[in-house]
Parts: sequence; structure tokens; C-alpha cells
Amino acid sequence: MPLHHHLIAGERLRSNSTRSNINPSNTDELIGEFSEADASHVDLAVQAATRALPQWSRSTPQQRFDVLDFIGSEILARKQELGTLLAREEGKVLAEAIGEVARAGYVFKFFAGEALRIGGQAIASVRPGMEVITSREAVGVVALITPWNFPIAIPAWKTAPALACGNTVILKPSELTPACASALADIISRSGLPAGAFNLVLGAGVAGKALVEHPQVDAVSFTGSIATGKSIAQHCALHLKKFQLEMGGKNPLVVLDDADLPLAVECAVNGAFFSTGQRCTASSRTIVTEKIYAEFTAALLARTAQLRVGDALDASTQIGPVVDLRQLEKNLSYIDIGLAEGGKLLIGGQRQAGKGYFFSPAVIENHDAQARINQEEIFGPVTSLIKVKDFEQALQVANATPFGLSGGICTTSLKYATQFRREMQAGMVMVNAPTAGVDYHVPFGGSKASSFGPREQGGMAMEFYTRVKTHYLA
Ligand code: ADP
Repeated sequence: MPLHHHLIAGERLRSNSTRSNINPSNTDELIGEFSEADASHVDLAVQAATRALPQWSRSTPQQRFDVLDFIGSEILARKQELGTLLAREEGKVLAEAIGEVARAGYVFKFFAGEALRIGGQAIASVRPGMEVITSREAVGVVALITPWNFPIAIPAWKTAPALACGNTVILKPSELTPACASALADIISRSGLPAGAFNLVLGAGVAGKALVEHPQVDAVSFTGSIATGKSIAQHCALHLKKFQLEMGGKNPLVVLDDADLPLAVECAVNGAFFSTGQRCTASSRTIVTEKIYAEFTAALLARTAQLRVGDALDASTQIGPVVDLRQLEKNLSYIDIGLAEGGKLLIGGQRQAGKGYFFSPAVIENHDAQARINQEEIFGPVTSLIKVKDFEQALQVANATPFGLSGGICTTSLKYATQFRREMQAGMVMVNAPTAGVDYHVPFGGSKASSFGPREQGGMAMEFYTRVKTHYLA
């Protein structure tokens, strides 16, 4: 049975305590045993990152380019194999899993280029004979804490800009998906990066907490739940560490009377159910104006009924399993909550037979925008249907949650599309496209309770991973 360990100072290090990693499509299949860190392993990793910082923070853009380009190339060359591992570990269907791996590869390639573009500004001084320039420096030792739903892409989109800016890194991936992170660490360890500039610590929230609270950690980038995000924010604010949070969503897809119906149905199905709804950008609310409501609902249910749920590695599967039993039980409990508060279950919402955590994609109708099913993030293939009178009410309902990650609209009206883009309170707005699915080189992030701090991905990612220095020359 494969046994996987932390990567600290360039060496694989084991813990006495380990955790089994199970395939959610087939719970008889063990993917591996993984070391489980406590505070002592976290400390070793932070010490290694601290020792590596002087060298890596002074590395040249060419060295950084070469390392990141190597990592990106190997990921892309092995996307089939790594995608298969991802599908087995997390349950994403194979085509999506390979797509995610490719995304991770391109992210490293993108930030290889960004390493060459780090620059500053020359600013005219108000004082005669004085020159002022700004430069960007590494923040220092950064902790990256990642969730299970994109087990290679999110570690990639945090690690690549962190290294491109000359920081040293400790990655603590989700305890549910250590295999993808371990495979990534293996590639990074052969990239020419100095030992200790990247460290991997496997384990659960205890390890994450120890990492955040380590006094030598200068910055924390986190993606996960709101509760954890808030606890990280509290600690970092108190200890003046830089932090960045990506958390939940309750993303709306608005469908107006004038929408292209087949396109709107595809946007709804893709956004709500693909990746088993386990995307923070999933559209978990479908808000539909009244004239198209009956026709849209009938078409959505017909399309949903055709979706094939099953083993992530089976080529005919469209919806893979839920990641684990806890999440499956959460999905089921939200179906109960939805029914108890007066919602109508129009399709799905049941556990399906098989050796995995299979759950049929669900549509719940409840027109009360304040119902829990319309307010709380579920993180499963569940969307609610909300009937509204017109565009104005649709926009008002779309904005009526604490979240603001992504929002979509299906319409052929330029006027409404434009107004929606302007007035939707979200970090990302989509017109005639699913709420999920953001290119790897553009800013990713939300507003309101969904995110905190500078954007991730794209050129803007450099904001978090650098500090600005102002220089005066007389
Ligand atoms: P999810 O519900 O998606 O698992 P979590 O916020 O619990 O969301 O987990 C996201 C990541 O945060 C995981 O890597 C997890 O181990 C880590 N984590 C959980 N609790 C803490 C904590 N108190 N401090 C730091 N990291 C944590």
C-alpha cells in the first residue's frame, strides 16, 4: 500500500499517525495511507522555509522562470495519469479531472512568465534632484491552506505566484485529497527549486491551525469554509500577518423571459451539477422570470433526468460521487431542510445505490428568497428554483445573500445584461455562461462574505505575494 509523507527541507518525512484515503466512487478501494502532521512537523516545515528564504528571495527571474516552467511542463505531460489520480481521489469525472490538471500546468506556465514581469514604478519627486522608485519584494514565509474540491488547481494557483515572487512556501492541502498534493510536491522537488523553498505538510485542521499560528509565518492564503476563514482572519489581524481568504458562495443564475432556452438550461445544468456541484462558483440558486418559468422548469427537469451519475472513471459518467460521507449527509440534510421549510423537491436528492457516495442531482422549488435552501451554501449538486416577476426582482433576489462570488444571467437583452453586470454584487459576472468556469489567467475572487484580500490568479495574484518598497535616490 503506498505510504505518503510530508516533504520538508527536500526530504520525505513520516509521522507516526496516518490517515487512509478512500476512493469516493468505490469505498472498498484505498488510494493510500498518508502521514498526519502535528505541530512538531509544522514547525520543522516552517524552519525549513525560513532557512530557504534568503536564497530563494534573491533568486533571479530566470531561475524562477525555469523552476515554474519545469513544473508546468511535467504536469501537462502527465495530465492523463494525474487526472486519473484526481478522479480516483476526489471523484471528479475523468474529463474534468484531466482538465483541472491541465489548468494547474498552465497556471505554473503563466506564473513562470510573471516572474519575468515583476517590476516597479518610477515616480517624479516633488523635491529637486530626488528620484523615487518602487520595487516589489517577497513577503516571506507563506502558508497555503487549500480545500479538497480542486485538489491540484488550487495548490497550483497559490504555490506558483508565491514562488514566482520569491517567497518560500508551506502547503497544507485538505486531508481529503493528500495524493494530488503529494504528486505535485514530488514534481516540485525535482524542479531545481532549493530544498526547503517548498514544503508539504499533510494533515487536518490541527496542522492548518498550527501553521497559521506559527510566529515565523508571514502570510496566509486560504481557501475553504467561512468558519475556518474567519478564525484565520482573527489570528492574522491580531498578529499583523498578511492574509487572503476565498470562501463560500450562493451563486445565482438568473434566467429572463427573453433567454435562449436551450442555452439557459445548459448553463443551469453545468453550473449547478457539474463537478458534482462541489465548486464555490456553482449556481445553487436558479432565479427565473414568470413567463418562461414553466417551460424552463420542464426543460431543466428533462435534462437533469438524463444525467448519468456514477464512477468518476467510467467514461459514460457525467456526475461523479460526492467527496465523502460527511458531505453526502450534508446534501441529504439540506434536502430535508428544504422540504421542512415548504420547498418542493422536483427531482433527485436521493442517495443512489453503489459502492460510492452517489447522490442524484436535485432541484428544489422554493420562491422565498430568505429560505435556508436559498441562503446557505450546500456544496452539492442541488439547485433551488425561485420564480420572480421581472428583471428588477431577479436582481434584488440575486443580491439577497451574504455572499458575492459569482453571478450569471441568461438573456438576449443587452440592456438587462449590462445592468446585471453593473449591479450584481459579485466578484465575477457571467452573461449567457455558467457561473462556474473561470480561465486560469484572469482574476478570481468575490465580494461580500465570499472573499477577503487581493484577487487570486492572473497578474493580480502578485499583489498578495509581494510587498512594495519605496526607494529615494538623491
Ligand atoms: P471544508 O468544509 O471545505 O473542508 P475547511 O475550512 O474545514 O473547509 O477546510 C479547508 C482547509 O482548511 C483544509 O485544508 C482544512 O484542513 C483546513 N483547516 C480546517 N480547520 C482549520 C483551522 N482551524 N485552521 C487552519 N486550517 C484549517
